[in-house]
Amino acid sequence: MRKKIVAANWKMNMNVKEAKSLCKTLLPLVKTNDKTVVFCVPSIDITEVGKMLKGTNVKLGAQNMFYEEKGAYTGEISADMLLSTGVEYVIIGHSERRQIFKENDVMINKKIKKAITSGLIPIMCVGETLTQREKNETLDHIKNQLEKGLKSVSKEEIKNVVLAYEPIWAIGTGHTATSKQAEEVCAYIRKVLTEMYDKKTADEVSILYGGSVNEKNAKELFSKKNIDGGLIGGASLKPEFAEIVSA
Ligand code: PEP
Repeated sequence: MRKKIVAANWKMNMNVKEAKSLCKTLLPLVKTNDKTVVFCVPSIDITEVGKMLKGTNVKLGAQNMFYEEKGAYTGEISADMLLSTGVEYVIIGHSERRQIFKENDVMINKKIKKAITSGLIPIMCVGETLTQREKNETLDHIKNQLEKGLKSVSKEEIKNVVLAYEPIWAIGTGHTATSKQAEEVCAYIRKVLTEMYDKKTADEVSILYGGSVNEKNAKELFSKKNIDGGLIGGASLKPEFAEIVSA
């Protein structure tokens, strides 16, 4: 049985006071035994949110990390630093990091490897632009991102990676992919994993969909065979997030 996961990506929202208040609101609403709920919070909030998540069903997540151990990397946060605050999950390769901060597949691969070897669970994001979709390049692009991002990740290691299909045109736009579009790409991701590893291994990897998921469309998206949950941006900052978890 694959893990069902709903991960919240708070992005660059919530100062420490706001983060604590949001946690207080959400925690009683997202109690569940049969799925994993993760709050991926801004670095500045990790310590305080981590304290509030202790003893609850919600796991602590970060939104980024650097692949070097330590040293002269001003502004960056290491895997060891995340682990020292109780972080278990880390988003790697979000399209906002790829587009705005120019992260490429080589850097993303280094981050994935470092996260795995440190004992963090990376949530690796892949997804196409609208232009790529219109030119029918979606599947080739996804395959390329998977092969480069997961380069030299072993069969044992991939079981500790979560993948998230996030079409860029759907992120923060209100234009969710249809469940058919999302399932098509998530099924394709599983096919590529089968080619890279084997079917049994591919069947064990949780694949999430992200891109304007809300309490109205979550049930339909999550009903699909190859969609094991969601990575939720905007809607994770509201009480409605609990309805997405239930869905
Ligand atoms: C995201 O940031 O990963 C995301 C999916 O955002 P949104 O839900 O707001 O589209």
